[in-house]
Amino acid sequence: MIVSRFAPSPTGRLHLGHAFSAIRAHDFARERGGRFLLRIEDIDGTRSRPEHVETILRDLEWLGLRWDDEVVFQSQRLSLYEAALERLKAAGLLYPCFCTRADIAASVSAPHPGSGGPEGPVYPGTCRTLDAPDLSRPHCWRLDMARALATVSAPLRFEDSGHGLVEADPVSHGDVVLARKDAPASYHLAVTIDDAAQGVTDIVRGEDLFAATHVHRLLQHLLGLPVPRYHHHPLLLGPDGQRLAKRHNASTLAALREAGEDGHALADALRKGELPIGFAAASA
Ligand code: GLU
Repeated sequence: MIVSRFAPSPTGRLHLGHAFSAIRAHDFARERGGRFLLRIEDIDGTRSRPEHVETILRDLEWLGLRWDDEVVFQSQRLSLYEAALERLKAAGLLYPCFCTRADIAASVSAPHPGSGGPEGPVYPGTCRTLDAPDLSRPHCWRLDMARALATVSAPLRFEDSGHGLVEADPVSHGDVVLARKDAPASYHLAVTIDDAAQGVTDIVRGEDLFAATHVHRLLQHLLGLPVPRYHHHPLLLGPDGQRLAKRHNASTLAALREAGEDGHALADALRKGELPIGFAAASA
């Protein structure tokens, strides 16, 4: 049975790009007689807002999308993430990091070729070898990428409908954060655990998350989780040619809904690739 999901973070209102992604994930499952799940990725307590959750549910219903099962909230699954972190710590693959953003920016202020990762500066490893870390100070937990890769004996691969069979190469991400100072798990950890726990077979999401999949594949290996198939789709671009962001307020689904637009008609237009005037789909 095919299982797909849409996994928005309730840190703002959904825009047309989210609608495009939700429709693709929904239709992927429905066209194959499968199940479509909705997961709210709300572990970021400082940026997630309950009122956005309400709006997201209404937006999806307005588009005509229906999900199976109860909505899953990451904020209610923290013990799962903690258990995984404990396992990785016990295996000696994590270390506490006390650096602030400013510390990291300063240490990579003279970037040299290759010092940037897919998600910004690569952590320079300042805290990797601390002798007696004082865990009463604010800290995050980072994956020791070199040690993690040392546990890999056969190539880590994943299937992507756009990219083919991909060999995961997470090294350029550096020592990624798995538990944040201000949140009990990072996106990488929570998304990997939840997709496995919910039995997601096919991950349909934007091309902007393709790079992160290399890290997710490594985490699947470290935690002994099944490897789903991936379908990274092109992003919808705004009238300025830039990817849509929450700051493009006019294109939020809530604004269109409140202006009396027909959500089902909008969803059908997006399905046919007929984008609202001024929008374009970026090629992958
Ligand atoms: N929560 C993530 C976001 O809103 C998406 C997660 C995913 O699809 O893997 O960007």
